[in-house]
Amino acid sequence: MSQPFKKYICKTCGLIYDEALGDEDSGLAPGTRFEDIPDDWYCPLCLVSKSDFVLIDETKKSAGAEQPKRKASTQADILIIGSGYAGWQAAEEIRKVNSEAVITLLTADDGAVYPKPALSMALSQNRTPDDLLEASAAEKAAELDVGVKTKTKVMSINTKRNKVMTTTGSFSYKNLILATGAKAMTLKPDGNAAHEIITINDLNAYKKFYKRLQDVKKVTLIGGGLIATELAEDLSSFGVEVEMVIRGSKLMSQIMPEAISHKLTDKLHDKNINLIFNSEITSMDTSETGYVLKTDQGETLETELVVAAIGISPNLELAKKAKLETNLGICINEHCQTSEPGIFAIGDCAECDGVIQAYLEPIRRQAKALASALYSDSASLFEVVPTLIKTKTPSLPIMLSPPLHATHGQWEISTNVGENQKLLYMENDKASGFALSGELVKSANDLYKEMYAS
Ligand SMILES: Cc1cc2nc3c(=O)[nH]c(=O)nc-3n(C[C@H](O)[C@H](O)[C@H](O)COP(=O)(O)OP(=O)(O)OC[C@H]3O[C@@H](n4cnc5c(N)ncnc54)[C@H](O)[C@@H]3O)c2cc1C
Repeated sequence: MSQPFKKYICKTCGLIYDEALGDEDSGLAPGTRFEDIPDDWYCPLCLVSKSDFVLIDETKKSAGAEQPKRKASTQADILIIGSGYAGWQAAEEIRKVNSEAVITLLTADDGAVYPKPALSMALSQNRTPDDLLEASAAEKAAELDVGVKTKTKVMSINTKRNKVMTTTGSFSYKNLILATGAKAMTLKPDGNAAHEIITINDLNAYKKFYKRLQDVKKVTLIGGGLIATELAEDLSSFGVEVEMVIRGSKLMSQIMPEAISHKLTDKLHDKNINLIFNSEITSMDTSETGYVLKTDQGETLETELVVAAIGISPNLELAKKAKLETNLGICINEHCQTSEPGIFAIGDCAECDGVIQAYLEPIRRQAKALASALYSDSASLFEVVPTLIKTKTPSLPIMLSPPLHATHGQWEISTNVGENQKLLYMENDKASGFALSGELVKSANDLYKEMYAS
């Protein structure tokens, strides 16, 4: 008798590989057993290897059971600020190359480990916020043999004395790593309910959103970028009415060509998602049933929950106060070193070569580069290269590798058959980005390797 199909989950981004369904976008037919997947296959969402997937039951941890072996030392060799993907990844990579260093991780939140990309697909995966928790801070710290201090906000850095001042005391360091991430941007329309706009950039915010969601039938999303679009599809799968208010005239206009954007718009319409383009919310007031929104186009919208997904803004306050060089983010070199040699920065707060790459794959390479700069002779350098993005839009499979600087070129259609499209971003007769949809997403990995293999 054949074994029942199993499900595996990517520990990094939360993508679920269901043996029954396979993953046709990356060439795995329904029924492909996990053990039969080639070893060089990688997660289509965040590009980690097959070995980063675990059987779903194994992800259930005894939350909070394990205690760290080390206390959070106030005199650390390595002091990390932030417990998002970047902070924990830095600790992990440093531990791989040095088992002795005293590492302390400070975080303003509870330090919980969870796959952030799952926040825009958990509803369709039928997972609650509690299901997303992979490990508590104490468990992760024990696993990596580091000290962790949660609910500790760093207020300032004294670069002369190698010390940080926090809400729970001061900590000294030999090397400091800023992994302070970014905050979700919001908007401030007029009206008595403007402060009730929700943003989602961490698990705690998602928990509050999820709780509110249980009592509503309609959600208005503000924004038309990647996260807003993913949330729209996810909410729609949850059975609520979804409306998007979009400032521009296209979905994901910064990273996606118009041709694919139009196809996706049609798909969202088919799902009864109401897209209101070229509109901005000017006021938000409470009403008997929820909220009433007014737009600059003179429209009045009735809704029950308002979520803004209009981008992120890197947390630069600490770096600025410490007089580190900043631009859009904290400026770093190929070793992830800031303008102060003993201080490093990675993740959503960091900018290299004028670019912030707020995705997991570049963060992983940054963590490797900084660990190698600190503890290895053979330096692995961080290089800014376009990343590969799989959009979580089940209605239309899309893989994108947008150009790093979309300034002088244009998207040119290479294939256009129904929803199967291939476009290249051409600049000076050279392709510096691509976008694939429909069946053609299967060729994304090969195309990516062809363009950027080093
Ligand atoms: C909904 C959503 C979906 C996404 N989907 C994808 C995807 O499919 N693929 C992909 O590659 N990427 C995706 N991303 C982006 C990716 O998740 C982020 O780039 C990544 O998680 C950022 O990690 P980080 O550690 O840099 O920042 P954060 O996760 O923001 O962590 C910052 C940490 O710093 C702490 N902190 C900040 N200031 C201080 C202070 N002063 N003192 C102490 N602690 C402080 C915070 O408490 C937090 O612990 C998605 C993001 C979102 C929001």
